[in-house]
Amino acid sequence: KLHNTILELKGNIRVFCRVRPLLPDDGSSGEGKVISYPTSMETLGRGIDLSQSGQKHSFMFDKVFMPDESQEDVFEEISQLVQSALDGYKVCIFAYGQTGSGKTYTMMGKPGQPEQKGLIPRSLEQIFRTRQSLLPQGWKYEMQVSMLEIYNETIRDLLSTNRSSLDMLRTENGVGKQYTIKHDVNGNTHVSDLTIVDVHSAREVSYLLDRAAQSRSVGKTQMNEQSSRSHFVFTLRISGVNESTEQQVQGVLNLIDLAGSERLSKSGSTGDRLKETQAINKSLSSLSDVIFALAKKEDYVPFRNSKLTYLLQPCLGGDSKTLMFVNISPEPSSAGESLCSLRFASRVN
Ligand code: ADP
Ligand code: MG
Repeated sequence: KLHNTILELKGNIRVFCRVRPLLPDDGSSGEGKVISYPTSMETLGRGIDLSQSGQKHSFMFDKVFMPDESQEDVFEEISQLVQSALDGYKVCIFAYGQTGSGKTYTMMGKPGQPEQKGLIPRSLEQIFRTRQSLLPQGWKYEMQVSMLEIYNETIRDLLSTNRSSLDMLRTENGVGKQYTIKHDVNGNTHVSDLTIVDVHSAREVSYLLDRAAQSRSVGKTQMNEQSSRSHFVFTLRISGVNESTEQQVQGVLNLIDLAGSERLSKSGSTGDRLKETQAINKSLSSLSDVIFALAKKEDYVPFRNSKLTYLLQPCLGGDSKTLMFVNISPEPSSAGESLCSLRFASRVN
């Protein structure tokens, strides 16, 4: 049976599936090939089959990227969507999947390998290039960047310059900054105390991305936390004005590397680990609830059930555009988690 995704409902929501290649480090245990691709006209480039315990499960997405498809191939499919942020749209692109499935590779790429850059650096290069090319038509754009992390339902500013690890610990204990989220009548989001930086080139943003990565790893050692247990939210605000026509646009591009979706074995998780897992499950299931409520055009959309969905509320509803990457590992030992990820996206449980 073919499980359809939200294809019939969708509107401005699309789901892409990406399968990473087998890596030398992947264990070779398991029952061999678990992922295959149907080739009928209907499913070409959109269907994916997963075999587990002798049973085949079929899924269909807006697009399926096979292991040999490059970062450039992926970007080609999303460049229009990125471009629409310059036209004044609010855009969200998520990467969902278990740890090790290729979320960060899809978003950021491989450090030190320019041809393997991910969609965040590629999007920024395209946006700044387009900005330059629109100058002769009178368009002037201002860009601002913020980067934050949501860990255990707590926001952390990744671009703050004046905070020590101690500061982070205090925030964690509820003593420090609270980073409250507010939305104004114009659909703009304000996070109190969050650092917002004016940027003028893709290189500046790339510098800030490095700083955010450092800030994340400090948190990791100080608080015994792994970046795979938190959501990373990159936000670019774009405001443009045309000096001859006085036309104005305001767009937002949110690029989100979600926390790993793997379920920890119930017996093994206690204390902090259990709390972490519960927070991740809650926010990922809230995200799924929100996306499906929007796709079905339901009157009530439960944005307030998690920090992530509340933060992104203005960028998920209305005429905004959402794309979800479901990242899949081809390892036989990951078949169970892969099936969960495919089901998450197609919502057939
Ligand atoms: P996640 O962020 O989901 O935990 P990563 O992006 O870190 O996973 O990917 C795990 C490993 O697989 C990394 O070493 C990464 O470089 C590699 N990898 C992921 N996707 C691809 C791909 N499409 N092509 C080549 N290597 C990949
Ligand atoms: Mg990662």
